[in-house]
Amino acid sequence: MITAKTQLVGLIGWPVAHSLSPVMHNAAFQALGLPWCYVPLPVRPGQVEAAVRGLAALGFRGANVTTPHKQALLPMLHSIAPSAQMLGAVNTLVIGRDASGAAIVGGYNTDDKGFVRALREGEFEPEDGGTAVVVGAGGAARAVVSGLLWSGIGEILVLNRSLERAQALVADLGRHPPCACRLHALPLTAETLVESARAARLLVHATTVGMWPHVDDLVWPEGAALPAQLTVFDLVYHPLETSLLRQARRSGARTIDGLGMLVWQGVLSFDLWTNQGLDLDEIAAIMRAACEQALGRGGC
Ligand code: NAP
Repeated sequence: MITAKTQLVGLIGWPVAHSLSPVMHNAAFQALGLPWCYVPLPVRPGQVEAAVRGLAALGFRGANVTTPHKQALLPMLHSIAPSAQMLGAVNTLVIGRDASGAAIVGGYNTDDKGFVRALREGEFEPEDGGTAVVVGAGGAARAVVSGLLWSGIGEILVLNRSLERAQALVADLGRHPPCACRLHALPLTAETLVESARAARLLVHATTVGMWPHVDDLVWPEGAALPAQLTVFDLVYHPLETSLLRQARRSGARTIDGLGMLVWQGVLSFDLWTNQGLDLDEIAAIMRAACEQALGRGGC
C-alpha cells in the first residue's frame, strides 16, 4: 500500500517498459514488509540531468540507470564508486542529504559485482586463476571484464565481431588493472572462439545473439562440442535456456544462466538503498522467483 511513509526508487532509461526490475524489487519490498516502491521512469535521451534533479527534489532515495543514460549522467554526480569510475558507467544512484538538507547523488555500478556473485553462486571461483573467454565487447561485456579483473582471474581473452570495440575495451579497462591479469582482444570467428576456449576455464557469452525471438542463433559453431572442462555463463536471460547453454550441457560443460547476474545486480542496488544489513541471499531468492514467474520459465 502507498502511504505518506512510502520511500521511492525507480528505473531511469529509454525504453524501460520491458524491464524486470520493478517486478523483482517490488516483490522483495513486499515480502520483507518494507514500505518502499520501485517505479519505471521513462526518460528521453538528453533529459537525464533534469530527471535526476527532479528525483532529488521529489525525495526519491535512489534509482537504477539503464540504456542510454549510464554514461551521460556521470558529470553531475557528487561521488562515483571506484568500479563505476573504472567502467565509466553507473547503474545505481543513491540520493542522500547533507547537513543543510541538500541532495547528494552518489553513483555506483553493481553489474560487475552482480556478475561475480552469480559466478560464485554457480560454483566458479575466479581467484583460482586460469583463462576466461568473454564473447562481446558492449556494456555487459565491460561489466564482466571489470568483475573478473577485480576478482583475480589469470587471463581474459575478449572476442568481438568488431575487433576495434574489443581493443577499446581492453585499452580502457587494462589501463589500471587491479590485478596482474593479462588482457587480450581478438576478432570473433568460429576458429578464434574454439581455439580460445580449448584450454579456458570459463566462457562468458555477452552478445545479443540468441535473444528472443532469434532463439536458435548462437555464437558457437553449430554441432561442435564445447570443451567439457568449461563453465559456460550465458548473460542472455530471455530465454533463460539458450541454445548455447543446451549445447554446453550436451558437451558435459557446467552452465550458468543470465538470471543470476540480473538478480544480483538488483540485490546489490537494493542493499545500497535500504542499507539495513538485510540477508542478501534471502533477497536474491525472492527476486529470482519473481523474475522466473514473470519470464514464464519454460515458455516465455
Ligand atoms: P550492447 O552494448 O548493445 O553490445 C552488443 C554486443 O553484441 C556487441 O559486442 C556486439 O558486437 C554483439 N553482437 C550483436 N549482434 C551480433 C552478431 N550477430 N554476431 C556477433 N556479435 C554480435 O549490449 P549489452 O548491453 O552489452 O548486452 C549484451 C547481452 O547481454 C544482451 O543479451 C543483454 O540482454 C545481456 N545482458 C544481460 C545482463 C544480465 O544481468 N544477465 C545484463 C546486461 C546485459 P559488435 O560490437 O561487433 O556490434
